[in-house]
Amino acid sequence: MADYDLAIIGGGINGAGIARDAAGRGLKVLLVEQNDLASGTSSASTKLVHGGLRYLAFGAFHLVREALAEREVLMRIAPYLVHPMRFVLPAEAGDRPAWMLRIGLMLYDWIGGRRTLPGRRTVDFGVDPVGAPLKRNFTYGFEYSDCAVDDARLVVVNAVDAALRGATIRTRTRCVSAERGAEWTLMFDARGRREVATARVLVNAAGPWLASAAETVLRLERPLPVRLVKGSHIVVKRMFEHDRAYILPSPDGRVVFARPFGPDFTLIGTTDEDFVGDPSAATVEPREVEYLCDVVNGFFRAAIAPPDAVWAFAGVRALYDDGKSSASETTREYLLTLDRGGDRAPLLTVYGGKITTYRHLAETAMTKLAQVFADVRAQTPWTAGEPLPGGDFAPGSDDDVVTQVRRTRPFLGQAHARRLVAAYGTRVKLVLEGVAREADMGPRFGADLTGIELRYLMRYEWAQTADDVLWRRSKLGLHLSKDDAAAVERFMTG
Ligand code: FAD
Repeated sequence: MADYDLAIIGGGINGAGIARDAAGRGLKVLLVEQNDLASGTSSASTKLVHGGLRYLAFGAFHLVREALAEREVLMRIAPYLVHPMRFVLPAEAGDRPAWMLRIGLMLYDWIGGRRTLPGRRTVDFGVDPVGAPLKRNFTYGFEYSDCAVDDARLVVVNAVDAALRGATIRTRTRCVSAERGAEWTLMFDARGRREVATARVLVNAAGPWLASAAETVLRLERPLPVRLVKGSHIVVKRMFEHDRAYILPSPDGRVVFARPFGPDFTLIGTTDEDFVGDPSAATVEPREVEYLCDVVNGFFRAAIAPPDAVWAFAGVRALYDDGKSSASETTREYLLTLDRGGDRAPLLTVYGGKITTYRHLAETAMTKLAQVFADVRAQTPWTAGEPLPGGDFAPGSDDDVVTQVRRTRPFLGQAHARRLVAAYGTRVKLVLEGVAREADMGPRFGADLTGIELRYLMRYEWAQTADDVLWRRSKLGLHLSKDDAAAVERFMTG
């Protein structure tokens, strides 16, 4: 008998989502991630749970409808990680007339079965605060709803839930070979140590490494139809005072988002260009930073320049190559293929997808795998109705959770308690377990990061290095100095 029912290559949002769903259905699951959870594309997104207004222009109605419906689900199951955000689209910009934008937004509001989020409205930039930072030639625009998400934490809590339901999650464990017989025999490199496991079914959820894993690990004969598309972002000091985001049409027909990023920063992205090579080496090119600054400077009165970027990151999508000529037009829909393998073990391959649609993708994966696992066949989908760890409170009542935390731990400042709840939801109780007095929080490392939080992250969330904490499980890297980060590393490895 195989060690596992299902082995998953890739600890991004898709691998973690599939692990959660499968473990909840009673399958014995192994997920291996070569680096840290969410160290690939899933921490490098624009961090939106959205239908993708621009995909309407490409006629991708199915994708937009499915993604919009998922917004409501994700707000419900992860209310501390997925929050409503209003987006402002200046009307007198881009090559689309205002009537077309109005119809697009009407459709956007209508097709997704919007229930809780407010609908579109016209905004007069002369009176509304969103007009204040914009150049005077923009006099009005449209506002609509989508959501912001902490992408990397969404990955981690899916993995946490999978583990709570019995899955084995192994980070820093690279799948180096997969022999396909009646079952899969998998070889791993776990920080230099060789390990072996067997599994009935293998899932290739390696994101931008999908094709290279198929070639070098699975040794498939035919190359996978994958198109790699890189997108880059920059983070600058907060550019505006309100909590709404802008969606800015660029002269080349693409759009750039400028959205609040925590209380102190604005996140600006993204570019969209074909990528060739090793995704680990994807970097933000100076010309991409200039492009993003130029687009923003076309709208805002206060100009930004490349040196204003306090952080920049690039991510690579692995899209199913549908032969479209431009990177922007290539489908963002996911595609799952199940090769049942005849008398050999089955292989499920995950192409494309979005953070927004990961849960639905995982559910679809399980529907496919029901062909293989008789037990799964008899089960009904469950992930839309079960909160993720820490998400067992009503959407929009984060402040109540903050109040409860501060009632039991009055020494916690409001901003600190807020950050903890925004990161851990009700699992903040576990983070603060055993903390009765401020001194129990342990050493402080800058910002409000303390030893107790680091211990929690190491014990329950597979954090092993300072980067795991400062750039994925939080964004405290934006606030800590080099010396602070070195102290975090020492604490974690000492
Ligand atoms: P990844 O997150 O890359 O995970 C794959 C993992 O597999 C990696 O962590 C890698 O280390 C691991 N791996 C690879 N090979 C091996 C191996 N041999 N052994 C073990 N592990 C291995 N979507 C949205 O919904 N909203 C957005 O706002 C949004 N913005 C985006 C902006 C950009 C610039 C990009 C590029 C994408 C954006 N997306 C967005 C899409 C979304 O980010 C991706 O679809 C999603 O993150 C892909 O997840 P994944 O799990 O397939 O891949």
